[in-house]
Amino acid sequence: MKTDMKKILFSLVLVALSVVSGCNRLTNDQDGGVKELPRIAIAGLAIESSTFSPALTHEEAFHARVADEVFSFYPFLSPDSINRRRANWIPTIRGHALPGGIVTREAYESLVMKTLDLLRENGPYDGLFFDIHGAMSVVGLDDPEGDFIVRIREVIGKKTLISTSMDLHGNVSWRLAQNTDLITCYRMAPHEDALESKKRAVDNMLSRLESGKGKPAFKAWIPVPILLPGEKTSTRIEPGKSLYAKVAPAANQEGIIDAAIWIGYAWADEPRNHAVVMVTGDNKEIVTSTAENLAKSFWEVRSDFKFVAPTASLEESLNMAIASDKHPFIISDMGDNPTAGGAGDVTWTLTEILARPEFKSENGPSLIYASIPGPEFVEKAIEAGVGGKVEAYAGAAIDHRFAPPIKLSGTVEAIEHGDKHAETEVVVRVGSVHIIVTKKRKPYHHETDFTRLGLDLRETDIVVVKIGYLVPELYNMRADWIMALTPGGVDQDLERLDYERINRPMFPFDQDMKDPDLKAQLVPTSDE
Ligand SMILES: [Zn+2]
Repeated sequence: MKTDMKKILFSLVLVALSVVSGCNRLTNDQDGGVKELPRIAIAGLAIESSTFSPALTHEEAFHARVADEVFSFYPFLSPDSINRRRANWIPTIRGHALPGGIVTREAYESLVMKTLDLLRENGPYDGLFFDIHGAMSVVGLDDPEGDFIVRIREVIGKKTLISTSMDLHGNVSWRLAQNTDLITCYRMAPHEDALESKKRAVDNMLSRLESGKGKPAFKAWIPVPILLPGEKTSTRIEPGKSLYAKVAPAANQEGIIDAAIWIGYAWADEPRNHAVVMVTGDNKEIVTSTAENLAKSFWEVRSDFKFVAPTASLEESLNMAIASDKHPFIISDMGDNPTAGGAGDVTWTLTEILARPEFKSENGPSLIYASIPGPEFVEKAIEAGVGGKVEAYAGAAIDHRFAPPIKLSGTVEAIEHGDKHAETEVVVRVGSVHIIVTKKRKPYHHETDFTRLGLDLRETDIVVVKIGYLVPELYNMRADWIMALTPGGVDQDLERLDYERINRPMFPFDQDMKDPDLKAQLVPTSDE
C-alpha cells in the first residue's frame, strides 16, 4: 500500500514535470508505474512525376518543411491532440511537391541526405511515420521510394516499426513492402480521405507500439497486372466505388491491421507501375485470403473502368460547348494536367482555341482559359498595367513537343501578386477569351482562384482548365462538362504512350491476356 502510494506520487510528479517542461517524455502505464513514451520519427517526400513529360522537378518544388514545421501537415498531431501526447515525435523533413516531371538526381539526393542526417542525430526510434505519395520518378534511379526506405533502414536499423502512408496512385514495390511494417493508402479518389488515411497509419503504429505487438506477423502482397489512369478509377462511380467499398470491411476484420488497394501511377515507365493489393495482420489465413479476395475483385471488374465523364477530342469538345445552352460548360484539358504530372505549359489547346473564329471578337462566347505559365509575358503585362495593351509570348518553355510558345496580344484585365505557386498572375483578354498567365505554373481548382482575379466562372460560357476529373468545387458548379483528350505529359490515352519497361502482359494493353496468378505472396518481415 505504502509503496503503491509512493509510486503514484512519483508518477504524478513526473507527469507534472513533463507537462511543465513540455517535453512529454513520460507517461503513466496501466499499473500506475511510469514508462517512456515511444520515440517516433516522421519523414517522407511526396510527388507524382511523369516520365512522359520533358519537365524536371527541382528541390525547391518540394517546399520541404523541417523539424516542428512538419506538424503543420497533420492536424491530428496538433499540440493539443491526443496523438501528439502518445509519443515523443521527432519530425525530420517532409516535402510535398505539385505533380510534375521527373525529379533531378541532385534534388532527390539532397533531400534524402538531409533526412538521413536528421535521423542520425536524433535516434534511436521505436517508430517512423513514412509519409509518401509513391509515384516519384528520379533521373537514373528506379523505385525511389524503395531506395529511400532502404537507406532509412540503414540509419535507424531493422527493429524500428515503420508505418507508411501513401496515395492510392502510388506504386508498391516488393522492396518497399519488405522494408515497411505497416502500410496503407487512401480509399477515395478524389482523395477526400487523405488526412484520415495518414491518421490511420499513425493510429495503427501507435497501437502496435503501445500494445507491444510491434511488427505484424504477415504482410500479403499481390501485384495485379492492371494499369489505368486516375480519370477512369474514381471511387465516386462504378466499378471503383464498389471495389473500394470492400476495403474498410476487409481491414476491420479480427486479425487484420490494414488492407489497401493501389491503382498505381500510369505515367512512369518502370516494372513497378501496376496495381497492388496489400493486407497486413497477425492471422495468416485471414491476411492471405482477404488480399486474394480484393485482388480477385479488382481483376473481375477491370473491363468496367470507363472515364468518369464523357471524353472527346478538343475540337468536338469546343463544338459541343459553343452549341450548348448550359453554362458554365467546363472542358478538362487533360493531357497537360499539372496535378497529374504535366509540365503545365503546353500551348497546344490554347493555340487551337484562339484559332477558332467564334472567339475572335469580343462579342463571342466568353471563355476562361486556366492557365499558361509565361514569366516574360507577366513582366510585359506588369509594364503595361491593368487596362493596357500587351503582346508577348507565353508557354512551351518546357514542353514544346505539341506547339511552340504562343504569342498573346490583348488587354490586361488583372494583375495579382503573392500566390504561393504562381507568384504573379495576369489575366489577358484576347477576343472573347480571358487567359490566365502565371509567372510559375499553378493548378486552378478553387472558385476563389478565379474570383480573386475578377473572373466569374458562373457567368462565363465556357471554362477550360488543365485538370482531369473535376475537383469538388468545380464539379458542383458545372452546368455541363467534358474531358478533352488533349496531348501532353499525362496523355489520358495511355495507348498513345510508348511504354518499354512495364511488366507485360498488362491490362488493358494486352486485351487477350490470360487470367493472372493472384495468389498472395507473403513478404518477409523487415527484420528478417
Ligand atoms: Zn492520387
